[in-house]
Amino acid sequence: MEPLHTETLLRVFQLVTAMLAVATVGGAWHLKAERALWFWAGAFAAAALTQSARALAMALEAPRSLWVVGHQGGLLAALLLLLGLRVYLGQPLRWRLPAAFTAAVCAGSFALTVFTDQFWPSLVLTLLASAALTIPAAHAALQAWRVQRGFPLSLLAGDLILSAMLEVARALAVSPLVADTRAQLVQYNAIGLLLMIALVIGQALAMLLLLQDRALRQIEQLIEVDVLTGLLNRRGFDERLRRLLRRNSPQPPMLAVLDVDHFKNINDTHGHAVGDMVLSAVGARLREALRPQDLAVRLGGEEFAVIWPGPESGAARRLGERVRESISGHPFHTSAGPLRVTVSVGVAQAHGPDEPPEALFSRADAALYDAKRGGRDRVVLSG
Ligand code: GH3
Ligand code: MG
Ligand code: MG
Repeated sequence: MEPLHTETLLRVFQLVTAMLAVATVGGAWHLKAERALWFWAGAFAAAALTQSARALAMALEAPRSLWVVGHQGGLLAALLLLLGLRVYLGQPLRWRLPAAFTAAVCAGSFALTVFTDQFWPSLVLTLLASAALTIPAAHAALQAWRVQRGFPLSLLAGDLILSAMLEVARALAVSPLVADTRAQLVQYNAIGLLLMIALVIGQALAMLLLLQDRALRQIEQLIEVDVLTGLLNRRGFDERLRRLLRRNSPQPPMLAVLDVDHFKNINDTHGHAVGDMVLSAVGARLREALRPQDLAVRLGGEEFAVIWPGPESGAARRLGERVRESISGHPFHTSAGPLRVTVSVGVAQAHGPDEPPEALFSRADAALYDAKRGGRDRVVLSG
């Protein structure tokens, strides 16, 4: 096999990281809200720029201690990658310790080239330090993957574990412990570089997929939430109810459908803006009246729903009344003064996993209709 040329590989590495830096800076500019991307752009740029600085120092036949800048690129990149990942995962940045560690290692690697006049001790030091910074990044990615499975995080975690292993292997391979001749040392370094290029491309791919994944999840959330009240909307409701019914738990879910009484009067008397204020406040009251696992929904207009995933048996009347009380119990404070608002409530407990969601909904809706006919401001249970 032809020997791999370190210089050529360094050029390729420099080009690849420069391209990735430009792409991520462009991406970060485009997606202004993604702070993590700026760190990742910095990571690729650090690798590319330090390689260029090293090449320049060599071309100018600058002192050897300047060449070592190239060794420090990977270390800086590992630091920025770790910080970017913390930002992406919404963890505290805690940058002081890793930054101080990086600065100390950079100073140490300069000193080593000045005092030993050899190239490998500084490379071994920066590679081991890069591994030390890559391990917490890999750990953070693994922890995040445990909570939220998926290809992007597994790709990143896998890539970072391999990167940390490669950094340790490279440190061993370029030290005289393993390589006995200079030719061997150069060859091992070149193989390491080749693998690094592949892993850097893998990291960029994982980052791209992570951002896309998050954007998709945000869109999913947006299309399931009602803008005025912040409650789940009809689309989210259908999905959740179907899922809960399929779960086949010993205590089947219970559904209440609510409709504000004579709401048209509020709009007609006080205007649409006050009507909106009341609807938003109804949403807030429902949320307050429920436990975190219960779901409040705005079905549309002045119609709401509540889903109790696993209510105690015989609690239908009590829970229905609690919801009604939360709205009818005390007046709403609006710009038109305090307004007393009442609701009618229809409650239905699911018969079991075989009951279609539409059938459960119809039963609750029929009970609501009975509550309206019976005089409003009351709870009717479906038989
Ligand atoms: P009932 O007791 O029979 O339910 O009487 P109601 O007046 O509440 O019933 P109706 O369905 O006739 O009126 C509902 C009103 O809700 C009509 C509509 O203009 C109003 N509405 C629907 N969506 C909104 C909204 O987002 N904001 C406001 N302010 N009003 C809305
Ligand atoms: Mg209505
Ligand atoms: Mg109404």
